[in-house]
Amino acid sequence: MAQDRKRQRPNILITGTPGTGKTTTSSALADAAQLLHVSIGDLVKEKSLHDGWDDELQCYVINEDLVCDELEDLMEEGGVIVDYHGCDFFPERWFDRVVVLQTENSILYDRLTKRGYEGAKLSNNIECEIFQILLEEAKENYQENVVVALRSDTVEDVARNVETLANWVKNWQPVS
Ligand code: ADP
Ligand code: MN
Repeated sequence: MAQDRKRQRPNILITGTPGTGKTTTSSALADAAQLLHVSIGDLVKEKSLHDGWDDELQCYVINEDLVCDELEDLMEEGGVIVDYHGCDFFPERWFDRVVVLQTENSILYDRLTKRGYEGAKLSNNIECEIFQILLEEAKENYQENVVVALRSDTVEDVARNVETLANWVKNWQPVS
């Protein structure tokens, strides 16, 4: 899609099932590559970009239009890492890379249990990972060469992923 003004630094979306390490990876990458880390969950809370609390799902009902309006200027500027467990409502043109983190089921189960997830919330998220929902969603919404799936089972994986992505950022050039 044509852009009015070229950004000088790339934007990256880090997505994946809750617990796969989006926030851990995003904040380390933000440090390593001098990018701005925007956690959509935090932003939604801070700026009340939601339509109330969903008691069943135990989360805010995110208002996607408000979130996109809030971020438009920043994204146009470039150099942003967006951290969210979804990717289908952002404008495709925002992102130069869409990273889908993936975690082995038993490891993810332990992480989510530790976080206090149980019942339907726990099993929904494990199923989400088993069926690779986020990877499918990413492939449906972004060009094939923009989407990359990365394993996030161990701390070594985080370090390697951050290094790989930081190198990619360093070598990125605005598309003409
Ligand atoms: P998300 O933002 O995707 O929900 P977090 O980054 O908050 O995930 O990580 C959830 C928990 O799992 C944290 O305690 C974090 O330290 C741990 N964790 C995340 N990724 C890894 C990994 N690749 N190896 C080991 N621990 C991890
Ligand atoms: Mn997170």
